[in-house]
Amino acid sequence: MSKRLILLGAPGSGKGTWSKIISDEKGLAHIATGDLFRAELTAETPLGREVKSFMEQGALVPDELTIQLVEKALTDESAVNGFVLDGFPRTIPQAEALATMLEKRDKAIDMVINLVIDESILIERTLSRLVCIKCGQPYNTQNMAPSVEGTCDHCGGDVVHRSDDTEETLRKRLEAYRKSTAPLIDYYRARDLLVTFSNDGPPSDEMRRRLFSIIDGAKG
Ligand code: AMP
Repeated sequence: MSKRLILLGAPGSGKGTWSKIISDEKGLAHIATGDLFRAELTAETPLGREVKSFMEQGALVPDELTIQLVEKALTDESAVNGFVLDGFPRTIPQAEALATMLEKRDKAIDMVINLVIDESILIERTLSRLVCIKCGQPYNTQNMAPSVEGTCDHCGGDVVHRSDDTEETLRKRLEAYRKSTAPLIDYYRARDLLVTFSNDGPPSDEMRRRLFSIIDGAKG
């Protein structure tokens, strides 16, 4: 079974939803840099104050801060048996830093799953999405609403609209994706790690089967 996975994709492509499903089913740590930054923001830590304006504007947080955050998460006990990275790396320097971090531990990434989605769906899906502020569980007002409005089915936390899920911020995040993150597709393809997963609909059993057969077919 593959143990160290990256989910790659544009904002709204389903990285959060599928990373949760994979990490739950495979017992892997779910490391989502967006969730980690949001937790720092909510707790009003010095890091939270530093990243606030970048996040609110839909800009990428500088690599140095992001890499430090991931390095800390990877040393956590929960990540020893493997992890799903969600929203990291988002730049080539982040990908290079990740490879170095893992090499130091004699480890490597097993597979990079690139979630592909039609851009017209992407905007609609992002504007209707919700997230639990406590555990990061994603929801969607259209087809994945929590059973009780405003309350997470998993942990009872508050389910809210993300403040950066506005049309204006989303456009900026898409620009950042195209400029800085999309080059990672070729980067990982050249390293023979990339697989593509078409994620145009809400999660279904058929999609789940398709995804797990890809993951289980991986070396590692
Ligand atoms: P996400 O929840 O993954 O959409 O991330 C929300 C925001 O957190 C992004 O728009 C960035 O401002 C910041 N962020 C998350 N991950 C990264 C990363 N790997 N590099 C830089 N900024 C990030």
